[in-house]
Amino acid sequence: MNAPAPLTAHRTEDCAPVLKERGQREVFCGLTGIIWLHRKMQDAFFLVVGSRTCAHLLQSAAGVMIFAEPRFATAIMEERDLAGLADANVELDRIVDQLLARRPEIKTLFLVGSCPSEVIKLDLSKAAQRLGAKHAPQVRILNYSGSGIETTFTEGEDACLASLVPVMPTLPKDAPKNLIIVGSLPDIVEDQFRRLFSELGIEQVASLPERAVANLPGIGPNTRFLLAQPFLGDTAQALEERGAVRLDALFPFGVEGTTSWLHAAAAEFGIDDTHFEHTLHPYQERAIKALAHQRERLQGRTIFFMPDSQLEVPLARFLANELGMHLIEVGTPYLHRRHLAQELAALPPAILLSEGQDVDRQLDRVRAAKPDLTVCGLGLANPLEAEGLSTKWAIELVFSPIHGFDQAGDLAELFARPLRRRDVLRV
Ligand code: SF4
Repeated sequence: MNAPAPLTAHRTEDCAPVLKERGQREVFCGLTGIIWLHRKMQDAFFLVVGSRTCAHLLQSAAGVMIFAEPRFATAIMEERDLAGLADANVELDRIVDQLLARRPEIKTLFLVGSCPSEVIKLDLSKAAQRLGAKHAPQVRILNYSGSGIETTFTEGEDACLASLVPVMPTLPKDAPKNLIIVGSLPDIVEDQFRRLFSELGIEQVASLPERAVANLPGIGPNTRFLLAQPFLGDTAQALEERGAVRLDALFPFGVEGTTSWLHAAAAEFGIDDTHFEHTLHPYQERAIKALAHQRERLQGRTIFFMPDSQLEVPLARFLANELGMHLIEVGTPYLHRRHLAQELAALPPAILLSEGQDVDRQLDRVRAAKPDLTVCGLGLANPLEAEGLSTKWAIELVFSPIHGFDQAGDLAELFARPLRRRDVLRV
């Protein structure tokens, strides 16, 4: 396979017709990101300053970890805190001191804001400064908000990574060009990408976040970065404000997306096109073969994306272009037009794009269209299944390794499985 062919511009970032909705929405809050972030950053700890509801969300989303000491917890605010009868700062300092004394392996502590901490206006950035000064240099203390008032689902990761950018070391102006993969990826996927970059001849590659957050990559005017996830708008902006340059590409889902993503780096680092094609060929061939199998099952099937993870647009492009699925509606909680410009151009024409949510109206559209598959949050999946519609939980797409060539077949399989189940039930 050759380097990516120019994409047909079916729509542009200026003229994309988008249905904007601002009604009731059914999306997890940004605390959910802790589930995958705490697994990735092995020397970090996430202390949510929240309520019992926040603690329950985390426990049920993560599954209760009985045998391992988890790297997250909730400092539960009681009624006296919420009523202003206790000094929440004093309580918080005491809990942090206790935690750090008991867990000396923690190198970075995130104080994570929630709806309750925002409602009582507990200033966690001041708390992070105060506690950071006390526990430096052993522990770095940062803060971000994962509250449902400010964030949806994957925006928690964006807020977390953006909080790391100011503490990334500064590289000198004459430092060699370096590349940062931005976005939390499963270790196995991150290793595959690093191997590929190395085979291409790009050696100065780091990740944000690294597995050890203590080793944050350096940043300078020669830093280039590739977003691995489409939901990292604030992180990208923070990196750009520090002088790094974003490489524009499709996101690395499927053969088309992964090729485009790697090619953006290869072009920037002066890698010869022949070498690029030769290096990628076996990976692309393997992925194409894996997709051919799933294409038989998915081609011509209709799919409806409810807004959830912000992965919707790149996944829709992958399903339409590489697996022949018909997109009925692609809903996303937020459409970052600049970061998604190439994705939008690669979508087939005449599909409905929607941003935000008015859940009842959107459910009416799902019922009217009767798609073969609806991608939605957990809360909507059961009722739709009860009405005879097949669903795919959006959260599974965030938890599973789905980036890159080697995962392309598995990604397609995630969409094929519920259809297969439905076919079997019908028989
Ligand atoms: Fe609920 Fe808000 Fe806590 Fe999220 S942060 S679990 S939305 S109370």
